[in-house]
Amino acid sequence: MNSLFWFRRDLRLFSNEALIEALNNGAKHAIFFVCEKQWAQHNTAAIQIDLLKRRVSYIREKLAKYGVNLHVIDAPFFADCQTKLLDFCQQHDIKHIIANTEYELNEFNRDKAIQAQCDQQQITFTLYEGDIIAPVGSVRTQNNEMYKVFTPFKRAWLKQYQDTHFSLLQWPISEEPIEIEQCELLSGDESSIKWPVDDDTLSTVVDNFIHDKLASYDDVRDIPSVKGTSGLSPYLALGVVSSKQLMVNIQQHYPDILTTSKSKTFTWVNELIWREFYKHLIAEFPKLSRGANFNEKYDSVSWRDSDAEFKQWCEGRTGYPLVDAAMQQLLQTGWMHNRLRMVVASFLTKHLLIDWRKGEQFFMQHLIDGDLASNNGGWQWAASTGCDAQPYFRVFNPITQSERFDPNGDFIRKYLPELQKVPDKHIHFPHTYLAATGQSEHCYWPAIVDHKAARARALAAFKV
Ligand code: FAD
Repeated sequence: MNSLFWFRRDLRLFSNEALIEALNNGAKHAIFFVCEKQWAQHNTAAIQIDLLKRRVSYIREKLAKYGVNLHVIDAPFFADCQTKLLDFCQQHDIKHIIANTEYELNEFNRDKAIQAQCDQQQITFTLYEGDIIAPVGSVRTQNNEMYKVFTPFKRAWLKQYQDTHFSLLQWPISEEPIEIEQCELLSGDESSIKWPVDDDTLSTVVDNFIHDKLASYDDVRDIPSVKGTSGLSPYLALGVVSSKQLMVNIQQHYPDILTTSKSKTFTWVNELIWREFYKHLIAEFPKLSRGANFNEKYDSVSWRDSDAEFKQWCEGRTGYPLVDAAMQQLLQTGWMHNRLRMVVASFLTKHLLIDWRKGEQFFMQHLIDGDLASNNGGWQWAASTGCDAQPYFRVFNPITQSERFDPNGDFIRKYLPELQKVPDKHIHFPHTYLAATGQSEHCYWPAIVDHKAARARALAAFKV
């Protein structure tokens, strides 16, 4: 039976079990749809599309060496994939399509429609769950419900996997090169060029992180001026690497990692489980893909409608240096440190009382690692409308966050060179210093809100 592998956000070869299954079934063709209009509707950042196209080009060439032809086809919207996929199957006498599940609502509906068409045409459509370790629906409460808080989800996740020693399937085919044509659809704008896409470099990045940095991750992961996190999120978001593959690598160095959840080295695995948690949530609650509050209690919050203040936040002109430097990091690099994502998201939703959906959308439009599940989860967590054990009155103070996590102002100075000469003790809120030295008007933005007053306003608004 002729098989076809359909690549989506699972752009990996050797650790892609669904792909390996297709190759075991003799697949000689794979397919990838360039869905520019759908991506625009999903607010996918240009830098992420560029990374995606570079990676597709890379795996296309790699697969050709193994005699597999990866066809790249234009399908502006998901709805176009359906006809194009079935036409392709007819032309190549394909009777089995294999892919990895995607959990977001539009992706789910696309696959549901395709499944119905396949049933009619006697084509088998098989979906694997390669993006996460625990399949959706497998980590449940005793009442068979999805956990609504992370910690019990994590405990149940760990119980399920504590004795597992992860391994990957063997790559099943040997080299047998074929010629492939150039593909115009894959030309991008090179904005992601700083992010390597070849497997050799990536496996060095992963190995170096696990070998050299995992042990200190817990100590430095909140310091944005230190490169203490893995930087793997763009690759996880596009499925270039998988959590399972990372677990295999971690267990090579730390075989007991899953039974030592109180150890410092476990902290990073904890983050991978957060990722799983958000994937499970997005699959379980389709309303999250539609922009609804997770917690309906907050549907009545009156968000402020200030385009001017939203613009100031987007452009890093709030007058709070850590917030502004963080937004500059996003605008200049397409990535933002996790601590700063929490700070700027809290600032937008609490200090400015602007709807989290606006921030969520802006992040998607700029992040190289944009991922609906994690982004939505992160924004709703910060806005207190999501799955969170903490009550709504957690409002990050951007000045004390700055003092704690950027004590010498190294990060601030990197992205706000105009504050280069401000002494350390004034860097976190330099307005008094700047005024006293006669520089304020030329040098830096006035504070958009007063912290105390903004906090009080947010608490009153959420009290509803
Ligand atoms: P590391 O610290 O090395 O963590 C390893 C991996 O674990 C990450 O690559 C990521 O896949 C996962 N991870 C880490 N922290 C989280 C978390 N809090 N939630 C879910 N997964 C996590 N992450 C995205 O991948 N895409 C997004 O669009 C996204 N938007 C966010 C928006 C907000 C408001 C917040 C607060 C967080 C968001 N995150 C998002 C989570 C987190 O900020 C990033 O995953 C992390 O900064 C990526 O850097 P890293 O790869 O160096 O992470």
